[in-house]
Amino acid sequence: MSSENQAGSRTSPEATARVLLLAGTAEARALSLAVRGVELVTSLAGVTEDPARYGGTVRRGGFGGVAGLARYLQTAGIAAVVDATHPFAAQMTAHAVAACGLAHVPLLRLERPAWVAGPQDDWHAFDSVAAAVAALPAGAVGFVAAGRSASALEPGPSARLVLRMIEAPGPLAPEVQVIRARPPFSVEDEVALFEARGITHLLCKNAGGGPGRTKLDAARRLGLPVHMVARPRAPECTQVETVAAARAWLDRVAKPTGDAANSP
Ligand code: NAP
Repeated sequence: MSSENQAGSRTSPEATARVLLLAGTAEARALSLAVRGVELVTSLAGVTEDPARYGGTVRRGGFGGVAGLARYLQTAGIAAVVDATHPFAAQMTAHAVAACGLAHVPLLRLERPAWVAGPQDDWHAFDSVAAAVAALPAGAVGFVAAGRSASALEPGPSARLVLRMIEAPGPLAPEVQVIRARPPFSVEDEVALFEARGITHLLCKNAGGGPGRTKLDAARRLGLPVHMVARPRAPECTQVETVAAARAWLDRVAKPTGDAANSP
């Protein structure tokens, strides 16, 4: 459950609309800093020790599942929710859809477009990071850019893994090395790293976005195969791809009068 700054009940129907932003991405951060004319509550999962600076009143920690989030929406008087969590934060997204349905609160999903392979790319699709690792051929050295979840990976006896992570993981298998680093990384940096470590395959989740693309450009430049983990399926809801479109949606649905609050 939340550890700080829970929003209290809204007392006046004339007051500025209170909006819940489910954060944890660069887009969420940009929206939190750009949004005007609403009272923003920015929610972080609380898993990162040193999170980036966000706008709005920041709260941290889970809500306690669908029922907890639906209760929070009602008691905090939330007029609209923007789910700008990471494309792989599937549980939070599913909970947001279910809880907003229960509480009759309009919901927008802000999700950056997925990366798409070009003619020079050699991509292979997988539905989990574990499956992408299991498909490495004997003698491969896989570079894994997949966040915290990667620390549980075991490459098997004939391959090696190099993981890049922001925060230190727990104990790892002997065939796994870790590089601790924080983005952004240039294409040149990625090429140099892959060459220095003898990387033969890139393994990553299809997170999308400009800054994270550089590893794919480096793999293309070096002719490396990419084991790409597809995004998890999410329940349907109104969706946009840009911060500007999310702001426009908020302008429409989170007006103080509440007249438009139930429009799609
Ligand atoms: P997840 O599996 O979808 O969610 C697990 C639980 O964490 C949720 O059920 C919820 O707990 C809580 N939670 C997640 N996001 C939250 C938020 N913004 N505010 C409050 N509670 C939240 O999520 P995840 O994949 O562990 O990701 C956690 C956070 O890291 C998210 O904010 C996400 O945007 C960010 N992130 C994830 C990835 C990734 O690859 N998965 C990458 C970069 C950043 P309750 O059920 O108790 O409400």
